[in-house]
Amino acid sequence: MIPGPVEFEPAVMRAVGMATTSHVAPAFIEAFGHSLEMMREVWMSPSGQPFIIAGTGTLAMDMAGSNLTEPGDNVLVISTGYFGDRYAGLLKRYGADVTLLKAEVGDVVKVSAIEKELRKKRYRLLTFTHVDTSTAVRVDPEPIGMLGEKYGVLTILDGVCSVAGEELRQDEWNIDVAFTASQKAVGVPPGLALMVVSERAMEAWRNRKTPVGNYYCDWSNWLPVMRAYEERRPSYFGTPAVNLVAGLEVSLDIILKEGMERRIARHSNLAHEFRTAMHDLGLKMIPLNEDISASTLSAPWYPEGVDGTAFMKAISQSDVILAGGLLPELKDKYFRVGHMGSVTGGDILVTVASVRNALKSCGYSPGI
Ligand SMILES: *Cc1c(COP(=O)(O)O)cnc(C)c1O
Repeated sequence: MIPGPVEFEPAVMRAVGMATTSHVAPAFIEAFGHSLEMMREVWMSPSGQPFIIAGTGTLAMDMAGSNLTEPGDNVLVISTGYFGDRYAGLLKRYGADVTLLKAEVGDVVKVSAIEKELRKKRYRLLTFTHVDTSTAVRVDPEPIGMLGEKYGVLTILDGVCSVAGEELRQDEWNIDVAFTASQKAVGVPPGLALMVVSERAMEAWRNRKTPVGNYYCDWSNWLPVMRAYEERRPSYFGTPAVNLVAGLEVSLDIILKEGMERRIARHSNLAHEFRTAMHDLGLKMIPLNEDISASTLSAPWYPEGVDGTAFMKAISQSDVILAGGLLPELKDKYFRVGHMGSVTGGDILVTVASVRNALKSCGYSPGI
C-alpha cells in the first residue's frame, strides 16, 4: 500500500515473465503498437502522440522538459510538494529562467495567482503536478489548461501519481504533455516512462531554434520509432524494455476493460473510505480539504504523541507496507498510504486495522 511500486495483477506479472523476444519480433511490434493506441484512450487524448520509453517517471519529466525548453525561456513551475520542486531544478539545467510558485503545505496555488503571474511576462511553458506524492494534494488541471490556452503557454502535467487513477481528459482540458511511470496507477513494474504529447507541443518542438540538450530524450530519435510501431513496422533507436512492454499491453487492457469512468470512481470511493476511517481514528490529513485530496494516495499527520519511527516499526511488523513522509522538513510528522491500481475494499479494511493497531502500540488510543 505504498504510492509506487504498487501491487501488480498476476496477469501482468505473467506477461512480464515471458521469454524475452527481439524488439523487432512480430508479437512484440503488435504489443507495442497496441499499447500506444490504448494510451490515447487512457489519457483521453485521441489526437495526442504517445511515447513509451525505457526509464522512470523522472525520465518522463526530463523528456518533456528538455524537448520543450530552450535556453532563456521563461518557465512557470507550480509546486505542491517535492516533485514540483524537483521540476524547477530540472528545467534550470536546460537553461530555463524558472519562476516557482509554491503552495503552502497541504494547499494548492490559486488559479488567480497563476493568472497574475502569466500576465507579468511572456512564458513559454508551465508545469504542475496533478497529484504530488509527497503531500497527496490534487490540483485541478482544467482551469490551468484554460490559462495555457488563453496565454499561449504550453502546459505540462506531471501525472506520475495520477494517470489511470484520477480523472484526466487531456485533449478536452488543453494539456500539452501528460506523463507517468509504469509502477504507479498504470500497474506495471518500474522501468517505463509514458507520455502523451499534443499536436501543439509537437509543433513547438519542431520549431525549436536550438537542438534538444539531451541526446537520449530527443524526440527526433523516438518519434520515428513510435510511428513505426504504431504502423506495425520494426524500428530501433535504443532497445525497448521488451518484457515491461508486454506487461503494459496486458495492464492497459485490464484498465480499459474496467472502463475509465468506473476506474476513476473506484479510486475515488476507496480514497474516501480510507480518509473517513482515518478521521474516525482522529487523524488529520495534509490536504486542507476534500476537493484537493487525491484518490490515489493519502497522507495523514501522526496524532500528537505518536513517534513516526515507532509507528513505522510497528507497521513493518503488520500485514501491510506503508510509506513514511517525503517532504524533508516534515518527514517524521506524517505517513503515506497508496491506494491505486488494483486496490480493493478489502485492502483498505486491512490497512485501516493495521494503522489502528500500530497507533495503539505507540500509546495512542483511538477515539473508537
Ligand atoms: C513517483 C513520481 C515521480 C518520479 O517517478 P520515478 O519513477 O520515481 O522517477 C515524479 N512525479 C510524481 C508526481 C511521482 O509520484
